[in-house]
Amino acid sequence: MALKELLFDHSDRDLTRIEEYRAVGGYEGLRTAFGMERDAVIEDVLNSGLRGRGGAGFPAGRKAGFIPKPGQRHAPAYLTVNADESEPGTFKDREIMLRIPHAVIEGSLMAAYGIDAGEIFIYLRGEYLQEFEVMKAALEEARAEGLVGDDILGSGWGCTIVLHRGAGAYICGEETALLESLEGNRGQPRSKPPFPAISGVYGAPTLINNVETLATYPFILRMGGGEYAKLGVENSAGTRVFSLSGNVANGGNYELELGTPLRELVYEIGGGIPGGRQLKAIIPGGSSVPVLSADEVDTPLDFDAMAEAGTMLGSGAVIVIDDRACMVQLGLRVAQFYMHESCGKCTPCREGTRWMVQILKKLEDGTADQGELDLLLNVCDRILGNCLCPLGDAAAMPIASYVAKFREEYQRHIDEGGCPFGGESSLAGVLAPVDQHHAHQRAQIEVPVHELA
Ligand code: SF4
Repeated sequence: MALKELLFDHSDRDLTRIEEYRAVGGYEGLRTAFGMERDAVIEDVLNSGLRGRGGAGFPAGRKAGFIPKPGQRHAPAYLTVNADESEPGTFKDREIMLRIPHAVIEGSLMAAYGIDAGEIFIYLRGEYLQEFEVMKAALEEARAEGLVGDDILGSGWGCTIVLHRGAGAYICGEETALLESLEGNRGQPRSKPPFPAISGVYGAPTLINNVETLATYPFILRMGGGEYAKLGVENSAGTRVFSLSGNVANGGNYELELGTPLRELVYEIGGGIPGGRQLKAIIPGGSSVPVLSADEVDTPLDFDAMAEAGTMLGSGAVIVIDDRACMVQLGLRVAQFYMHESCGKCTPCREGTRWMVQILKKLEDGTADQGELDLLLNVCDRILGNCLCPLGDAAAMPIASYVAKFREEYQRHIDEGGCPFGGESSLAGVLAPVDQHHAHQRAQIEVPVHELA
């Protein structure tokens, strides 16, 4: 296995332009969908084995199937596109939107047609200014060609698309917080049930899918769900875009067949670790997932193999960490991010993330006492499974895994009265500190904008 590009076309075509996208078969899948019963569209996606590309990996066809059928619903259904890509290390959805915005639009229209939703909301990360402009231009082109609005392609079915910019909160990538934010409320998660499929935006049935998930719909409908399912491995069908970063020669987004060994991504496609340094650890699915150690680099990039290794594919962000890195500093950086992004609604997450940061700071400063490592694990344990939304687990799981896999290094910080690596520089290139992260955000955020197509 190696690079397998369905979404990313490496010809010289500018696929942001609708005529170029159409020249490679764009919007043909939508035409195909209109020739099918609505249920058959969703059935094809179910048969494809496509699993959500946002983080949880739930089967996309099953999720769409939870939306009540027309006639059985209490309100009109909506489709919401989760383009609030914020997981540290993840930058694939932005490239998908920048390179193939029409695939996002076409896939969204297909999904909306499948569930009979007449309105689509694209919730876009506030910092993604360029992506906003590209999506807006693509929507205008699509509307001008009768692909958005009333009676699309003479199907008798119509759909509008609203482009909505968020304001920079990580938690708004959580689907119920996203809905709150979309409605103009403070972006905090809702209790579930009811689930969004029954009571989502404005209390109406709502399907929420990630950008990459929806951008894959046109390729599934064009080739047929059965053919798509032949790509990848059992329970992990198709291709996926991985964001490769950290201490690796050729960082970037790479679309691979699922099941490709992590080693191939890091060493063959990514060019390995520069400067002759050694691999120390790999975060395989964004900052919120448990870490893998160097001897787990042969783990295949598929959902089941990652679960067996005690971690997750998550958001598809693969972060390479070399032997210069201090795992306590890494833990502190990750914990500070989640402390900053905790919405404060539930106690284990609000207080626990602060406890984690305090203990990790003491470890790094050399002021931690014997026993505080167990206290740190105890705090993680009290967060895990006790929070309203996944952010709590996202904060605790990685820290607990760093201690479990690098306990000796953590213990050295206590025994030697400080960091044996010294200084922040040992994390060069691996996840920006939270103050830099937010300085970057503040520099880019403007007033949120709605655009209607
Ligand atoms: Fe808010 Fe954290 Fe609770 Fe989620 S887990 S609702 S982010 S406090």
